[in-house]
Amino acid sequence: MKDNNVYKAGPAADPDDIDLNVGREALTLMHLEQPPGCLTPAQIAFALGNDPDYIDALIAHDDDQSSVWSESALHVRNVGGDPDEVEVHLIEARAWGSTAQTKRGALAWLESHPAAPPVDFLLDDELLAVRRAGDSKVRAWRECSGPECTEESRECPAHGTRVVELEDAYDRSVETLRARFLVLSRANDKVPEAVPGSTAR
Ligand SMILES: [Zn+2]
Ligand SMILES: [Zn+2]
Repeated sequence: MKDNNVYKAGPAADPDDIDLNVGREALTLMHLEQPPGCLTPAQIAFALGNDPDYIDALIAHDDDQSSVWSESALHVRNVGGDPDEVEVHLIEARAWGSTAQTKRGALAWLESHPAAPPVDFLLDDELLAVRRAGDSKVRAWRECSGPECTEESRECPAHGTRVVELEDAYDRSVETLRARFLVLSRANDKVPEAVPGSTAR
C-alpha cells in the first residue's frame, strides 16, 4: 500500500543538482532511454562519454540496485506481503537489470571501436531544463490537496488540468534534450571499427 502523504512528506530532490551521485551523463541517459531499447549501443556509449571505466562503474551500480530490489521482492513474498507489491519490486529489479544489459552492449561497442574519442558533456542547459520541468510536476502534486493523487494524476479533480500542462512542458523539454543529443551523437557513427585481431588501442 502506498500512502501518498508519506511520499509527500519526504525531502524533494534538488532539481538543479544534475549529478545525483551518478553523473550528468547517466542522468541524461535515464531520460533518453525511454522507451528502453530505443538507443543503439553506439549512442549509449556516446551518452556515457565513450568511457569504459565509467560505464563499468554504472553497470556495477545497476546490478547492485537490481539485486536489492530482487531481495526485497523475496522478502515481501516471504512475509506474506501484497502480491502487487512483490510485482512492483520485481519490475524495478528487471528494469535495473535491463539497463545494465544495454550498458554492456555499449561496452562491447567500445571494444570494437577503440578509436572512439572521449566526449565533452555539452547538454547541461537541456538537462537542467528537464530536471526543472520534472520538479514542477512534483511540486504541483505536493501542493495538491486532492486525496490519492500522484504527480501523473491527470484525473485528479484538484490539479488534473495543471498536470496536463506540466506533463506537456516536461515532454517538450525531453524532446529538446533528445534532439540535441541525436545531433551530437552522430560523431560515433564516424568512428571506424577495429580490424579483428589487431591490438591497436
Ligand atoms: Zn514496496
Ligand atoms: Zn492532485
